[in-house]
Amino acid sequence: MNIHEYQGKEILKQYGVKVPEGRVAFTVDEAVAAAKELGTPVVVVKAQIHAGGRGKAGGVKVAKNQDEVRTYAEQILGKVLVTHQTGPEGKEVKRLLIEQGCDIKKEYYVGLVVDRSTGRVVMMASEEGGTEIEEVAEHSPEKIVKEVIDPVVGLTGFQARRIAFAINIPKELVNKAVGFMQGLYQAFIDKDASIAEINPLVVTGDGEVMALDAKLNFDSNALYRHPEILALRDLDEEDEKEIEASKFDLSYIALDGNIGCMVNGAGLAMATMDIVKFYGGDPANFLDVGGGATEEKVTEAFKIILKDPKVKGIFVNIFGGIMKCDIIANGVVAAAKQVQLDRPLVVRLEGTNVELGKKILNESGLNIVAAESMADGAEKIVSLVK
Ligand code: ADP
Ligand code: MG
Repeated sequence: MNIHEYQGKEILKQYGVKVPEGRVAFTVDEAVAAAKELGTPVVVVKAQIHAGGRGKAGGVKVAKNQDEVRTYAEQILGKVLVTHQTGPEGKEVKRLLIEQGCDIKKEYYVGLVVDRSTGRVVMMASEEGGTEIEEVAEHSPEKIVKEVIDPVVGLTGFQARRIAFAINIPKELVNKAVGFMQGLYQAFIDKDASIAEINPLVVTGDGEVMALDAKLNFDSNALYRHPEILALRDLDEEDEKEIEASKFDLSYIALDGNIGCMVNGAGLAMATMDIVKFYGGDPANFLDVGGGATEEKVTEAFKIILKDPKVKGIFVNIFGGIMKCDIIANGVVAAAKQVQLDRPLVVRLEGTNVELGKKILNESGLNIVAAESMADGAEKIVSLVK
């Protein structure tokens, strides 16, 4: 789960990580009032969306007085920001962070990720802050330093110092940077984060080490023990279909293609996406209805797929193990009747109660193309949507 920058900064503050004073604002008047309250000569008006690259897209503006705060707040609120992380459709700005302007001496990058190869948390840092870390990784990978963190002892002082020296934090500020990094690490661990990215971390004119940006992601499987994090969820920022799917406990991820896929089992769902691609098609989603889905769950899954206007055809690929083919068939028929199936549907059924499942589909009066195998089904749906 993702949260907004201002929420991330609130959490970091609790761990002793320095951040500029700031207030969230939902309206232009609130933005102006927040700037008044902050009382600093320069404030920054920042769009709050779950995506980076806001600065380049016009979503971060430095205001030198309250009139400018009003002008920028009017400009940014309600605007659809298109950044390299939002996709071409962009994201509408509904919240602003009004924050003290900071006298930046230099920008750095510090991030924490879970590294699969070592099975540990890794701290990454660079003196090339402010720019996208992906670009630094591509053009000057030697400018990124890493420390693998032992979960028993945590981020040690010597590791944090080694990072601080490697990225050329001014000597007199190394201790502050060490405290910053250790606070960041502790927040990451305590809150079950999956990513923490501070870009930029800055050194200021008056000798502070601060987080000017904060991106925190949390492990959804651990949210049950962090109600305070779950409370920060902003449904406006999430895909409507994914929210709907999570209500029914379906694993659904929206993708860019036009072939809706309904599959049981994550492995089979992945293989289905692969084979659709293999025959020249593009999946519109990943959807695993799970092992023991009910007819109701299958119906909901089908409706979610059909809600996507990009979907030009549907491929149902079921291997009945725990899941019985007749349950899937009944779900497909029920959903197709409820929502007016107006697009081609290819079904491949195999496994428990397959004959019964096929009979239900055949007698449903729906226009269903039966597939003999997974490959046959993929080939058929790809040619039908073309
Ligand atoms: P994004 O990564 O989405 O572009 P950032 O929060 O990193 O957004 O802001 C972009 C840039 O704006 C920063 O690299 C920094 O130079 C500047 N900036 C952000 N917040 C402040 C602030 N409080 N004071 C001064 N400059 C800021
Ligand atoms: Mg940033």
